[in-house]
Amino acid sequence: MRSYLSHLECTETGETYNADEPHTLSPAAQKVLYPRYDIDAVRREVDPSVFATRPPTMWRYFELMPVRDESNIVTLGEGGTPMIRASNLERSLGARTLYIKDEGQNPTGTFKARGLSSAVSRAKELGLTKLTVPSAGNAGGALASYCARGAMECHVFMPEDAPPAAKTEAALAGSHLTLVKGLINDAGRLSREKAAELGLFDVSTLREPYRVEGKKTMGYEIVQSLEWRVPEAIIYPTGGGTGLVAMWKAFSEMECLGWIGPERPKMIVVQSTGCAPIVRAFEQGVRHAEPWENAQTIAAGIRVPVAVGDYLILDTVRESGGTAIAVTDEEILAGMREMASAEGVWSAPEGAATLVAYRKLRESGFLAPETETVLLVTGAGSKYTDVAMGA
Ligand SMILES: *Cc1c(COP(=O)(O)O)cnc(C)c1O
Repeated sequence: MRSYLSHLECTETGETYNADEPHTLSPAAQKVLYPRYDIDAVRREVDPSVFATRPPTMWRYFELMPVRDESNIVTLGEGGTPMIRASNLERSLGARTLYIKDEGQNPTGTFKARGLSSAVSRAKELGLTKLTVPSAGNAGGALASYCARGAMECHVFMPEDAPPAAKTEAALAGSHLTLVKGLINDAGRLSREKAAELGLFDVSTLREPYRVEGKKTMGYEIVQSLEWRVPEAIIYPTGGGTGLVAMWKAFSEMECLGWIGPERPKMIVVQSTGCAPIVRAFEQGVRHAEPWENAQTIAAGIRVPVAVGDYLILDTVRESGGTAIAVTDEEILAGMREMASAEGVWSAPEGAATLVAYRKLRESGFLAPETETVLLVTGAGSKYTDVAMGA
């Protein structure tokens, strides 16, 4: 297998950069860089039916992944999560087709595994051996785990009130864990300072170009599991928005490859009423989100007051004909109970928020009973036992 990675491209200006040297944001515009591939060559040389013949991890899409030498892959078996047909919820909600994409079945219990397997593998390939990350919790646990696996040095900066399981995970895996008074953006400042001081490479989401490639494999998996078509709507619990824009990138790659047509799912953002900067920006009709003050929610992974890729998220939601909606923590707790008792999926609070959003959007008429919808359950409830006690 070979990767068809060709270069990095600035998502704002289109300027291109050499992918085989380390980059963060685009040097000129300070915007997100996306990896690009030689799509024409992939179209000629790769038949998508080959993916089903390979081991079911996200690395089965190797040609469209940013690692050149397979021996650099740092893996714990991430990806290949099930699309569960939520037939009991279909009955109770009067829905024709509802799926749960259960990302809680990933290593480390969340879909952060995809992004960090990709980023750590690429860092290893580029000779970067000391990594740092600011995290609301799960990214820190995942980076620590993949660094342990890859025998690399790891620094993690997390809010002091991050979920206990994530703190434990990062500490047990041997990372240098710093607990920060404040939120993920405060942790980000400290992480960047430490990076400059100690020569660490900062893998903050979307500031580093390769985490998005791990998360885009969710888009490939969803489409492959529907026999190479897209669903009509995807509901996504949005923090930094990496997974949402990543799936959008995957759909656009697949259309260029001729594997799907021009149709797209409505991409739907759900946030907590305690931290909803993207929902507010969507409603205001603007392309950049103002920082959210005093962010507070039990859904730690979406307690993200500032997103560097805000313009990518908002463009995606609007182009797709989607929407953005906020739900309360009380509704999220009820959603956890509803999903677990109906389908046996003990979701993290972020994932449960998608079910709450689905119900509200059905009530408002935005989604019809027949709209084929995927609830992106981004993590397992077992990483939040403290929260679940209250459900
Ligand atoms: C990080 C995280 C999110 C948000 O993901 P983004 O791609 O940053 O928007 C959602 N759910 C869980 C469980 C997370 O850990």
